[in-house]
Amino acid sequence: MSGQINAFEMAQKQFDGVAKQLKLDPGVAEVLRWPMREFSFRIPVRLDDGSLRVFQGFRVQHNDARGPNKGGIRFAANETMDTVRALATWMTWKCAVADIPLGGGKGGIIVDPSTLTVNEKEEMCRGWVRAMWKNIGPRNDVPAPDIGTTPQMMGWMMDEYSRLVGQYTPGVFTGKPLGGGGSLGRTEATGYGVIYTVREAMKHLNIDGKNSVAAIQGFGNVSQYAAAGFVEMLGGQVACVSCWDRHEKKAFTYSKKGGVDPRFLLTIVDEYGTIDKAKAQDAGYTVEDGDAWITKEANVLIPAAMEGQVTADTVNKMSKNIKIVAEGANGPCTPEADEYFKKNNIFNIPDFLCNAGGVTTSYFEQVQNDMNFYWSKDEVLGRLDEKMTSAFNSVVDRSEKEKVYMRDAAYMVAIDRVVQAMHLRGWLTGNS
Ligand code: NAD
Repeated sequence: MSGQINAFEMAQKQFDGVAKQLKLDPGVAEVLRWPMREFSFRIPVRLDDGSLRVFQGFRVQHNDARGPNKGGIRFAANETMDTVRALATWMTWKCAVADIPLGGGKGGIIVDPSTLTVNEKEEMCRGWVRAMWKNIGPRNDVPAPDIGTTPQMMGWMMDEYSRLVGQYTPGVFTGKPLGGGGSLGRTEATGYGVIYTVREAMKHLNIDGKNSVAAIQGFGNVSQYAAAGFVEMLGGQVACVSCWDRHEKKAFTYSKKGGVDPRFLLTIVDEYGTIDKAKAQDAGYTVEDGDAWITKEANVLIPAAMEGQVTADTVNKMSKNIKIVAEGANGPCTPEADEYFKKNNIFNIPDFLCNAGGVTTSYFEQVQNDMNFYWSKDEVLGRLDEKMTSAFNSVVDRSEKEKVYMRDAAYMVAIDRVVQAMHLRGWLTGNS
């Protein structure tokens, strides 16, 4: 997904490969290769200097056979319709593999949000909702935050929707702030979810968590709680974490003899996931270049920063003791890395299974909004563990039964569930 690769072409290629293995009817495959609905619209925003600027917005609804479409809204300068299509398609598979009753959606605006004032950002969020409100809602499409969007923005968007429909409707957006309709446990959900799947993979492979060491890329929302969970839930050590230093404009790897202390690092990281280098050095941390993370001695690799990090070039630098690769980020490993994992018998937990904790807890948020009754954090995380464990087991069982690689098995589980829902609804019989 990095560089010139078209993400949607990649999503279709992955799907085509598994559809062939599943011997899917070509007509059914054609339904799933493309999103069911796409929206492209213009959003006029009055800037603080009095001028009017028009932004390009998108929403793609890939498939809602299993329930309302679900997926983030991304504010990014390099946003394209094809990126949104790809992400919406992957959301369909992610919700299906996690077995939550939702479909796949994604949206965005072509904009670098850091160039806007708070007021302008709020106007833009409200403008996106004014363009889309008739086609979103708790029963048809529920957006959430993604890159460049925040819980506060979800609060504004929910408010705009509620005004337009004339009633408080918190379940239309998830990822809202706590106290504004958000769910306890959402902050930890994706990182802890990664660790629940790593724990299950260790059981499956007979690996002792207490004697395990993880090398982690990133120290943002996912990686912070994956690091904490690896130490606190599995009793293992975290050899390193890394981050993009927004002041020095380069990436660094942070390590410490005996393992890093994620809870300490949480006290010296900013909201953008940049660790305070001076404070880390004062506390005895070794700071190396950003690409050192992958070379650290470990048996678990958790790329949890961004796409395209474990590649034909970098995969050979990985410790020869790595037994599990848990994809915390979306698309962190390229097809060449997959080939290396297959050849070297490295167990892969594919992204749309491994990081499904975020969307699963978003679903819990919506359920709580619908009931207007809120769960404790332990209740949220307990239910999350149940869902992640069961999703992991479905994929491992399929992988063993069909003797296929974990990524292919995850696709098979997801595609089967979506096709079954389309059949049950009569979408494929010709009478609908
Ligand atoms: P984030 O912005 O909170 O954190 C990203 C971290 O990666 C930061 O610490 C940043 O400094 C670091 N980073 C960026 N570039 C780097 C580089 N070149 N080298 C080393 N570190 C680098 O993002 P996040 O929410 O933690 O998301 C991380 C990944 O997980 C993304 O691929 C995202 O799509 C995926 N994901 C996130 C969630 C979620 O709930 N947050 C859910 C599913 C998937």
